[in-house]
Amino acid sequence: MTRHVPLLAIVVPCFNEAEVLPETARRLQQLIERLIRNGKAAPGSYACFVDDGSTDRTWAIIRNLQAGAGPFGGVRLSCNRGHQAALMAGLLSVRGDAVVSIDADLQDDLEAIPAMLQARDDGADIVFGVRSARASDTAAKRISARLYYRLLRALKVEIVFDHADFRLMTRRAIEALRGYDEVNLFLRALIPKLGFKTQVVTYERAGRFAGTSKYPLGKMLALAFEGITSFSTRPLRVITVLGCLMSMFALGLTAWATLAWLVFAATVPGWASTVIPVYLVCSVQLLSMGVIGEYIGKIYLETKRRPRFHVSETLAPPEDCGFLLEPDGDGLQDVALPALA
Ligand code: UDP
Ligand code: MG
Repeated sequence: MTRHVPLLAIVVPCFNEAEVLPETARRLQQLIERLIRNGKAAPGSYACFVDDGSTDRTWAIIRNLQAGAGPFGGVRLSCNRGHQAALMAGLLSVRGDAVVSIDADLQDDLEAIPAMLQARDDGADIVFGVRSARASDTAAKRISARLYYRLLRALKVEIVFDHADFRLMTRRAIEALRGYDEVNLFLRALIPKLGFKTQVVTYERAGRFAGTSKYPLGKMLALAFEGITSFSTRPLRVITVLGCLMSMFALGLTAWATLAWLVFAATVPGWASTVIPVYLVCSVQLLSMGVIGEYIGKIYLETKRRPRFHVSETLAPPEDCGFLLEPDGDGLQDVALPALA
């Protein structure tokens, strides 16, 4: 199956990436020009940088890039909304038949993009970039990532192992994604849910080109937690099972105590058998309430229907590839667009 030469849009979320951005832009420009020359991407293909509320020179650099001759556009969020929201803002803003998302720090191999385009040509609507080696990671990160994926699998959350947010999506897949209104985003579990034909392209993930990680431990843990609570209600089932087991244990204990009283007449209650169950039951109750609270919190947040981001400025790329989202009169615009038929 061959498809027509696609207009390629590369979405790059950036949070305080001034150190790495010029080099990223240089390499992206080289790649895009090469792809256009080789007939793999249509003229007018471009990269769109999404400034996620940076406090350094990131937006100034994006503005310069767009003003220059390169194939660049920009979207600026009004404040820092996090990687996933920035990514979503970019994906829903760009035009393009093939939309690739990639981090700004050059950890993902740009050379995987031609392979992704080939996979699209072969009929895939979503192409996941999967890292072949985790050589650039510490042993602790490797092990915790593996355990986390196992946990997600056990909770029946569909996710591609060793895939982050480096992927290609066709226009069809992007429009389907637009229909998902949730505020708490975890795209790597959401996108497999779209159900379109997928393919995998493997690549070697490098170290960061420059600058420091914008994903400190706290943000990472929050994202990991998001993956569980946004996609699985199994923890709630676990509470029920735990409750059943506890009551069976309590019943058994009662039977045993009655037997001891009737048959052995050894009924002096011990300290342990009184105090330990109290602690045990209390801790299970607390734990259960905590998990239920997580879900209630989520319902609370989702029912507010808050926009995920506001686009305050857009810079149109050259050659008539405008944005689907344009700022309105007050410079702020919700991303929520009418659902497409
Ligand atoms: N990022 C973002 N908003 C944030 C944090 C990160 O847009 O609040 C971007 C960041 O600029 C980068 C990508 O998300 O392009 C991944 O971040 P990073 O490379 O720092 O994460 P790591 O690779 O260390 O996990
Ligand atoms: Mg990185």
